[in-house]
Amino acid sequence: MHDQLQSLRLDASHVYAVQNLRLRRGPLNLTFIQGKLALYAPLDGRITGAVFTGNGRVTLTPREPSEKLSLLHFLGVPLLDQNFTGAYLRFTDETAVELDHQLEEQAGQQSLPAVSDPFFTDPWDAVLPDLNTWHSLRILCDWLGAQPRPYFYAGIFGSSVGPFDILMDSRREEPVLVGQARLIDKVRFFETWVSLPATQPGISTVYDFQPLSYTVATTIHADRSLDGDTMLKIRAVRDGERVLALNLAPELQVRQITDGAGNSLPFFPSTEFDQSGKSGSGTILIVLNQSAHTGQEFELDVDYRGTVISDAGNDVLFVGERGSWYAHLPGPDRFVPFDLTFRWPRHLTLVATGTKVEERQDGETRVGHWITPQPIAVAGFNLGEYERYTAKGAGIELEVYSSRELETALARRVRQFPSTVSADPPPLGGSYPNPEDPRIRDAPPPSNSAVALTQLGKEGLDAVSFLEKWNGPFPFAELAVSQIPGSFGQGWPGLLYLPTLAFLLPETQHLVGIAPRVQEQVNEIVPFHEIAHQWWGNEVGVQSYRDTWIFEAMANYLALLYSDSRKPSEHILENFLESFRQQLLTHAPGSEEIVEETGPLSLGYRLASWKDPTAYDAILYGKGTWVIHMLRMMLREPDEPDAPVAAAQDPDARFIALLHDVLAQHRFQAISTADLQRAVEGHMTRAMTLQGDRTMDWFFDEWVSQTGLPSYAVEFQVRVVANRFQVRGTLHQDGVPDLFTMPVPLYAGRENGKPVLLGSVVTSGPETKFQLWCAFRPTRVLIDPQRTILSRTK
Ligand SMILES: [Zn+2]
Repeated sequence: MHDQLQSLRLDASHVYAVQNLRLRRGPLNLTFIQGKLALYAPLDGRITGAVFTGNGRVTLTPREPSEKLSLLHFLGVPLLDQNFTGAYLRFTDETAVELDHQLEEQAGQQSLPAVSDPFFTDPWDAVLPDLNTWHSLRILCDWLGAQPRPYFYAGIFGSSVGPFDILMDSRREEPVLVGQARLIDKVRFFETWVSLPATQPGISTVYDFQPLSYTVATTIHADRSLDGDTMLKIRAVRDGERVLALNLAPELQVRQITDGAGNSLPFFPSTEFDQSGKSGSGTILIVLNQSAHTGQEFELDVDYRGTVISDAGNDVLFVGERGSWYAHLPGPDRFVPFDLTFRWPRHLTLVATGTKVEERQDGETRVGHWITPQPIAVAGFNLGEYERYTAKGAGIELEVYSSRELETALARRVRQFPSTVSADPPPLGGSYPNPEDPRIRDAPPPSNSAVALTQLGKEGLDAVSFLEKWNGPFPFAELAVSQIPGSFGQGWPGLLYLPTLAFLLPETQHLVGIAPRVQEQVNEIVPFHEIAHQWWGNEVGVQSYRDTWIFEAMANYLALLYSDSRKPSEHILENFLESFRQQLLTHAPGSEEIVEETGPLSLGYRLASWKDPTAYDAILYGKGTWVIHMLRMMLREPDEPDAPVAAAQDPDARFIALLHDVLAQHRFQAISTADLQRAVEGHMTRAMTLQGDRTMDWFFDEWVSQTGLPSYAVEFQVRVVANRFQVRGTLHQDGVPDLFTMPVPLYAGRENGKPVLLGSVVTSGPETKFQLWCAFRPTRVLIDPQRTILSRTK
């Protein structure tokens, strides 16, 4: 069947001259104004495609602010309205019937007979084999299942923007997708212009299958290649599905897939439709023996081999594919038990997520077995020639694994930083060291790594106990910190990857020529950011790409709180917040927009466009950190404006309760931005109630779903009324939509003495009048001197 689909061509004897054919699909309107149209030849009596050449027009107007902003960013207008000269349609829905119906109607009115027109069909037929590839598999998914989920696709040849794709597919997490594939330096990028969630209620079980457990056996050979076998226990959550998708790194070739009864199952390697530079986007489609029924549990055994471990030199190995070195189901984070077995060359040390229950030697290999006492969403491992250092704290043991080769090879390794791919980004605002810099090239071998290791272990333990105060108990039984080449880190459940740089003392970092800004990032944020991910990312997981900002922002903010607490006099939190602000206000190269205007936080990885590679980091990490800071600052306000905060009460009590609540209520589950918002609403103060009811819609709409940074200015007069000073004036708000609202604290300044809080003014447009009282005559009115709001105003 797949081969037949793949070799499908047009029905050359039926080419129609058409006028004003229309197709409507939800928010999408396609009009074939004038031109020629041909249908695909039927297969099993079913027509699965059509092509059109002529004049047409396509419109789509999303309601979601984030999608309007995305269109504005890519196309310059907040809606899709494009003329086109050609279209390639594929579908399993009612399109063929609809087209047929309209063609019959037109034939009745104007007698438009179908003719044979090879000049029209031949050029199309020449390109169809390439275009068919993805669709043949997609159509197969619907035809094999007992309850198909129809899709509609239009490849549009836009008159002014070039070719772009429109896909409406309820098998996707977000069914409506409009975007454009681009080749930049031979790398394929998919720019997502619009992605819309399911508009019909009831389409919530996008994923037909969910994992119950993973058992992964991996043999790592001396040449770094691996043989792997993942045994998945799976439950079907929807009736009638016969094709199951698994993710596996494209570098791993599947050799065989069997079901629980030992039957070998057919499978097809595929890709995500909008595959971009994302790692691990390899997909395998597996055809089950029969359609699944709801609640059915079954096993799959996937056998594969390939290479996902790269050698960074000197036996420093690096597992590059987060979570796709084993076969797993796509979808939001699902917390399940993992059972991991490894065999690896005996001279290496292997660290993995979970608790090690066995390790032994077997000839030239070592064999180890790990299980997970708590369910986890993703498993990882690392291996190398490690030195081990153990730090014991209250209730937790922290093990630090650093590469033995560190000292002699560092100078050389530093030269490899620029080519390192990053999961967490390169240091914000920092530049990578120039490998040709003689200070790096000719640097003497750094020393004192043992001291650095001890320090890292101690700091790690200290950070864990600091973060327990904010987050609640450390979620795992152990924490291993292992070294990876490069300048980024990654936090797996109970296992951290930290960059080589973090394993060096500051003097050594300086010696090998690391820029001070990068050094600061590595020392004050990276290790603690990764530790904070143990809660934010590993104790609770991510529902969708639209929610990843929560985890990066929380991890960053908590890391800064920790660093700040260690050296209060250095104002680390304040300084980082200011540098994030500066980055957001920077103009993207050759653009009118500031970086912040690239798109809202809720666009997640879609912010990483080739247009401005810095936008993703600046927004997800920088603006995200500010959003958490603003929430914390608002939660610190006393509920009664005049009530002094009791000395014993921690001003952060509400913020801490919020973090505890989110983590405790969603322990080992995936959370969304809506979950966070609901939790904030459970702890919000009266002052945060801007909309009359206990909702934080205003805040999450403005700061998460939309772009815009306000700037503020104030005018005021003072008069004496009954021995008190009345301060009346206007607060000007600019740079944001008129409806933007924000409580802005105003302080009264005087010649001698600290400024005193006058009160918060809730802005209600470009100009907000206010009237506040003061015990002295203020000489000036200061806008938010404590920097609790992310604004353009310095
Ligand atoms: Zn992170």
